[in-house]
This record gives sequence, structure tokens and C-alpha cells, in this order.
Amino acid sequence: MKASKLDRVRVGPLATVLKMYAVASEVERVAIMLGVIEGSEARVYSLYEVENLKGSPVKFEADPWQVVQASKTAEKYGLEIVGVFHTHTSCPASPSPKDLEGMKAWPYVWIIACKDEVRAWVPSEGSAREIPLEE
Ligand code: ZN
Repeated sequence: MKASKLDRVRVGPLATVLKMYAVASEVERVAIMLGVIEGSEARVYSLYEVENLKGSPVKFEADPWQVVQASKTAEKYGLEIVGVFHTHTSCPASPSPKDLEGMKAWPYVWIIACKDEVRAWVPSEGSAREIPLEE
């Protein structure tokens, strides 16, 4: 299943947590999302927070070693990496030009949160398409 074919992401009780991440930080925060893909739906069961090596309010770079640990953790629990979550210190929660670049390299679900909104995106034809984010 390619992420571009997904039409929905479910985050369950994490919905509240995602928003709290955005409110509580002055730099962009990053987490790898662990879960499963069922049909055209991604389900996020867990977040594995990784360090933003840029330590920046406007961009992020996930620590690659910690991403490997996230992958191992997913495997241990029978899950897979379904996407990447990060925060924006100012709204909107839509992909920046740099995020669009990142989506090409990392074609998963991208959830972006800022203090007013949490939105989900998948790569689509060199750009990004928004998909519904549900509990
Ligand atoms: Zn971003």
C-alpha cells in the first residue's frame, strides 16, 4: 500500500496528545507514528518521539539513529511505521516547501499540528493531498 492511496487516518485517543505537542513547544517537535495500515486506512497506535536535530521553530530533522530505534520498536510490537508527526510553532498545519521535499523522501502519512489545528497529509503527484483525520 502506497501512502498516496490512503484515504483516512485514525488516531484514537492520541488526538488530544497531538494537539498538546503543538501547544507546549517553542521548537518543532517530531515523532514517528507507529501503527497499522488496514485497507486504505492508516491507524496510529503509538508515537515515538525523536529529537529534532535542527532545534528550530521553523524546521526539523529527525535524528536518524532514533528513527531506527522507532522502527525496531514497531517491529517488536507487530506494528509498522505509518507516518511522521511534527508540529508547527505557527499555523497553519499544512506542509511547508521543506515538508513537501521531505514527503518525497518519506512517502508516508504526515500529520502536522499547530495550536489551532491538526491535519493529515499524504504525498500526491509531487505535492500533498489532505486526508481526513479521525479519532
Ligand atoms: Zn512542517
